[in-house]
Amino acid sequence: MNYLPFTKPTLDEATIQGVVEVLRSGWLATGPNVQALEKALSDYLGGRIVRTLTSATGGLEVALQVCGIGPGDEVITPAMSFAATPNVILRVGAKPVFVDVNLASRNIDLNLVEAAITPRTKAIMPVHFAGLPVDMDALYDLAKRHNLRVIEDAAHAIGSSWKGKRIGSFGDIVSFSFHPNKNMTTIEGGALSFADAEEVKKFDLLRFHGISRDAEGNMDVSVAGGKYNLSDVAARVGVGQLPLLDGFNAKRRDLVAHYFQHFSTDPACLLPSRGDEGHSWHMFAPLLPLDQLNLSRKQFIDAMHQHGLGVGIHYPALHLFSLYRGLGCKEGDFPNAERIGRETVTLPLFPTMELVDVERVCAAAKEIIETAKK
Ligand SMILES: *Cc1c(COP(=O)(O)O)cnc(C)c1O
Repeated sequence: MNYLPFTKPTLDEATIQGVVEVLRSGWLATGPNVQALEKALSDYLGGRIVRTLTSATGGLEVALQVCGIGPGDEVITPAMSFAATPNVILRVGAKPVFVDVNLASRNIDLNLVEAAITPRTKAIMPVHFAGLPVDMDALYDLAKRHNLRVIEDAAHAIGSSWKGKRIGSFGDIVSFSFHPNKNMTTIEGGALSFADAEEVKKFDLLRFHGISRDAEGNMDVSVAGGKYNLSDVAARVGVGQLPLLDGFNAKRRDLVAHYFQHFSTDPACLLPSRGDEGHSWHMFAPLLPLDQLNLSRKQFIDAMHQHGLGVGIHYPALHLFSLYRGLGCKEGDFPNAERIGRETVTLPLFPTMELVDVERVCAAAKEIIETAKK
């Protein structure tokens, strides 16, 4: 029986050949392929200014710096995400202020944000969880009323859209990830989409050593910039991936529709919000009914492995990690994040899967759950 991982990148032969050509070209660092990828992403995002970089984590960190956020400032962010989201807030010297998430959408509960705002709050950093956009009308209305910046962690949401407009084609600063597990890849890499051309100038300095050149070619260093530029080899992968992205996401949606069909006959699991055709379905993660089962999540995952099926966990609640407990967070602070953290399982989902693979996953999950019912 072949092993089905929970995710897998899809690389076509033409892209692989394209990468070989870049490797033979003698130009490996930032060059024409980075330019081409930034242009293609800008076109995809309705003409916004787009900059690539070596990771979305770096992108979020530099975005905070571009906004001038640092010591003494607070940034509101969901209590359930990948560790990168709150970590970058700490890395610039600011304080992450967690807000609980909605159990079904897994997105930050915007109804709870207002109560978390203080005079020190400078920004909201929401996550479009699994590619389901947060309510963008409510988010930007809130940000406008309280004069807050928005840095969208759209690591899961390349190709997602809100009311027909792509995530990243509007809004403040939007960050995408092109890690191999994400909906498109540059191996490692990410991109930021900007609304403000002046801020892009700041970003360009921070991306590459703070270096600028005047008309005569004299070099100056005006800020202590970092080193986040993408290689041309990585960018060439992205150039090949972007035209395939909408097809990848359509396939993900088909597979997920199948998952919903199967799981609707097993009401024990709590399914994520379905969203609409603007959902990129970066992953499909039901919550296990652990209270009703004679089984731990680890036992469920081990049993799935026995069937040759990979399962992921996205994600444990952030505030229960030792770093954030050390900063004063404790059990009970964010009940939905905690429940998701305990019960969530990410089932296999990637564009080269077939409907029979979904059936195999569902049959195994159902068998394990039925056998374990108290
Ligand atoms: C993957 C991910 C990131 C970080 O992306 P990298 O490109 O790996 O740095 C940030 N936030 C979320 C929600 C992610 O899933």
